[in-house]
Amino acid sequence: MVAGPVEPQFNGPRRRLLETMQANGINDLAVLRAFDVTPRHLFVPTGVRHRAYEDAPLPIGNGQTISQPSVHARYLQELKLTGREKVLEIGTGSGYQTVLLSHLAAQVFSIERIGALLDRARDLVQQYGARNVSLLQGDGTLGWREFAPFDAILVSAAAPRVPTPLEQQLAEGGRMLIPIGERADQTLMIVTRRGPELQQRALGPVRFVPLVGAYGWQD
Ligand code: SAH
Repeated sequence: MVAGPVEPQFNGPRRRLLETMQANGINDLAVLRAFDVTPRHLFVPTGVRHRAYEDAPLPIGNGQTISQPSVHARYLQELKLTGREKVLEIGTGSGYQTVLLSHLAAQVFSIERIGALLDRARDLVQQYGARNVSLLQGDGTLGWREFAPFDAILVSAAAPRVPTPLEQQLAEGGRMLIPIGERADQTLMIVTRRGPELQQRALGPVRFVPLVGAYGWQD
């Protein structure tokens, strides 16, 4: 649909990546379709473009990384989105996951603290995303109160603990995925709101860049 006719050399590698994901338990068809229509090679710097469909994290500049595709896939499948949700993403980065989300939810709100990354992501999101994305430069640990509550919150950077504003902005039954732990190693947690209670469940070890902000790590 998108990059196919222009850059057919990436179609094969993208298809193989999808097959690998399916072999590794990603079976949500909407999630697989989102990966199929999103040209990851355009979200990474030209120097690493030839590696865009390897299942690996890659540098995106400003000391940040685009996550491994299978990590995005796991996140997205875990959220069990139906297409009707309002979603908040913290850490737009390249904008790749933002675009994936735009195909899976009704509305996507995404916050990035580094202006240079957000400027680049904005163009790509406009070109390849569905028209349901709002972007903001700022400290995502504060959430985006104007549009809260959110049915799902995805935090793409690792925090020492769950930021209080994000807890408060989670809708009833809403799910938040967030890596919690030390600066170098973390556990991916899923936090679900049930009335006044927040249930937490560990999903496994992960490695993300630090969440820097008022309710994250200091710069
Ligand atoms: N999902 C992104 C991954 C980006 S890496 C992608 O697909 O490319 C995590 C991002 O979180 C980085 O760009 C980093 O700058 C950003 N980040 C870290 N702390 C943040 C904060 N407090 N608010 C918003 N963004 C933050």
